[in-house]
Amino acid sequence: MTGLRIGTGYDVHRLAEGRKLILGGVEIPFGRGAVAHSDGDVLLHAVCDALLGALALGDIGQHFPPTDPAYAGISSLLLLERTVRLAASRGYRIVNLDATVIAQSPKLAPYIPAMRETIAQAVGMDVDAVSVKATTEEKLGFTGRGEGIAAEAVVLLEKAE
Ligand code: MG
Repeated sequence: MTGLRIGTGYDVHRLAEGRKLILGGVEIPFGRGAVAHSDGDVLLHAVCDALLGALALGDIGQHFPPTDPAYAGISSLLLLERTVRLAASRGYRIVNLDATVIAQSPKLAPYIPAMRETIAQAVGMDVDAVSVKATTEEKLGFTGRGEGIAAEAVVLLEKAE
């Protein structure tokens, strides 16, 4: 493999009453949350997929199958840590990552600093190299109607010397 690798990730989860909303490892009081086998952290799932994509190692569903009871309710921070270790085992470290959460509500801006800190700490990166953004889709589509939440991520890896 060459010195630099880039990958993208995208994930969606349905939202339902009475579930926790966890984004970037941070629990956000909302009253609705992601329907998922794991904790449904759509942001971290997109980041994991970006990492796996950069390494051409498949996707999160292959590495952490939703049919495996071992991953029931698991914190996606653990999935992220394992994925980063996998990259490290191939000789790669993250240069930077950039992610966007797409949701009509709640307002995510107040939680973004905590998400960046949590992700940076989990993967052992400088917080300056971890970008998290949020947007709505102007009440259009499934995110606009509040039926679901989406996230996309881009990660750049470099071969550690
Ligand atoms: Mg997911």
